[in-house]
Amino acid sequence: MSAPTPDPPTSEPPTSEPPTSEPPTSEPTHPAFAAALPVLMGTALDEAALAAADGDVPVGAVVARLSDGDVVARAHNERERTADPTAHAEVLALRRAAEAIGSWRLGDCGLVVTLEPCAMCAGAAVSARIGLVAFGASDPKAGALGSLYHLGVDPRLNHEFPVVPGVRADECAEVLEAFFRARRAP
Ligand code: ZN
Repeated sequence: MSAPTPDPPTSEPPTSEPPTSEPPTSEPTHPAFAAALPVLMGTALDEAALAAADGDVPVGAVVARLSDGDVVARAHNERERTADPTAHAEVLALRRAAEAIGSWRLGDCGLVVTLEPCAMCAGAAVSARIGLVAFGASDPKAGALGSLYHLGVDPRLNHEFPVVPGVRADECAEVLEAFFRARRAP
């Protein structure tokens, strides 16, 4: 996620402005995972709702096995709750997945997140040697998988992975928009 703070520019979800360009896309080569993707994003959306309940920006993430789409770990943004600047949903989900699997190498897994990951989270996905990342809403102001940068396909890094953008994108964006609307309300 992009982990926006309450009001800086990067906190605004990609509401009014459509993505200027579609991030490079690679179709998943794992049919079971691909078939499960909408449901997995639903789980990520459930996690996002939990974040909002704590006053955190509603971003949720799931790590699932590419072979069968089974969920390995799930998490939501806990930056406010834990006062941890790195407690983005993706970092927490990757950490929990590695703990569950017993290895930091997550090449057999896909990360599914409601908002395009920021540079830190995309970097964490590279570090985990993730097999694939799918996200919902694009983040033109902080996204690092196609919007500002594309850390998933940078040959200078030691790992690349396919990216599937736009999964249930409207729903994912609406969750963020509703959260910030409520914050702005008098
Ligand atoms: Zn992040």
